[in-house]
Amino acid sequence: MLKELTKKAAEMLLNGATLLSEPCPYCSGVRVMKEGYALCISCGREPEKKEIPIEKASESETPSIQKTLEKKIETLSKELEIETDHEKQQSILKTINSVIETIEKIKNK
Ligand SMILES: [Zn+2]
Repeated sequence: MLKELTKKAAEMLLNGATLLSEPCPYCSGVRVMKEGYALCISCGREPEKKEIPIEKASESETPSIQKTLEKKIETLSKELEIETDHEKQQSILKTINSVIETIEKIKNK
């Protein structure tokens, strides 16, 4: 039973789970958490789901940054559309390019 739990915990950690700083309220054992699912390595209990917010916050962060960047591209392309100065066009294009690169980085994370 304990071996099973350790194995499961190790798998969770490999899949991006984190060790909880707060010990298990039932046995004071070490717990791992992934996507709001906290598992105690010692007793196998999965108490309270209160700790979800930490994980949820980081999960929703990526799409919102992406949205911001995508909006930025929209704004920039509109600027580019009305811009007649060649140098300014170039600099807008450069900015668009770096924003796109950033989005790609986020997506490939
Ligand atoms: Zn426990």
